[in-house]
Amino acid sequence: MFYLDPIYFFFALPPLLLVLYAQFKVQSTYGKFLKTPNMTGITGAQAARRLLDASGLGYVGIDGTPGELSDHYDPSQKVLRLSSGVAYSASVASLGIVAHEVGHAVQDQRAFLPMQVRTGLVPIVNLGTTLGYIFFLAGIFLQFTGLVWAGVGLFSLGFVFTVVTLPVELNASSRALALLWNNGLVGTTELAGAKAVLDAAALTYVAAMAQALGNLLYYVFLALGMGRRDD
Ligand SMILES: [Zn+2]
Repeated sequence: MFYLDPIYFFFALPPLLLVLYAQFKVQSTYGKFLKTPNMTGITGAQAARRLLDASGLGYVGIDGTPGELSDHYDPSQKVLRLSSGVAYSASVASLGIVAHEVGHAVQDQRAFLPMQVRTGLVPIVNLGTTLGYIFFLAGIFLQFTGLVWAGVGLFSLGFVFTVVTLPVELNASSRALALLWNNGLVGTTELAGAKAVLDAAALTYVAAMAQALGNLLYYVFLALGMGRRDD
C-alpha cells in the first residue's frame, strides 16, 4: 500500500496530461487576449460594475484579490473578487472573465440549482475524503472488504463534486457571453475571443473531473483486488 504503485500511473497519467494541457491552454489563451484591447476601452472592473447593475445586482460589491486568474464570486459576502491583471486591463480577456463571474452572481441571485447543490456538497466532500481514507486504510488493515468499499463510496463524493461543478461553470460562461453581447460590450470578433478564454477555462474543469475519476477508479481497482484475495 505504501509504495508507489505502477498501476497508479495507469489511472493517473492520462488525466494528468489533460490537466497540464488545460493549464497550458488557459495560460496561452489568457495571455493572448489580455494583450487584445476591447473596442470600448472599458476595464474589467468597470465592465463588472456595468454588467452587475444591468442584471439587477447593484448590491454586489467589487473587491480585489491577490494572484493571477484568481478571480471569483464570493456568494457568502456577495462580492466579486477580481485579480488586478483583470480588474485594471481594458482587454478582451478581462471582459470574458468578469462576465463569467457576474454569471455566477446571477446564478446565486436566481438560486440556480446546480450551484446550490455544489455549495451544499463542499463540507460533505471535505469530510467524506478524510473519512474515506480512514475507512479505506482501516479496511485494508483489518482485511474487511465492506469497510474498504465504504471508503471508496466516500471517495466518490469528490468525483461527484467535480461533475456538479461542470454545469455551474458552463452555465456561467454562456450567461457571460449573452451579458457581454446584450450590453453592447463586444462585437463579433471580441465575442469569439472572450469565448476562447472561457472555453479554455472550462477545459480545466473537465480535466479536474477526469483526474477525480482516475483517482476513484484506482481505489475501485484496489478494492476489487482485495475482494479477490478474500475468495
Ligand atoms: Zn466559474
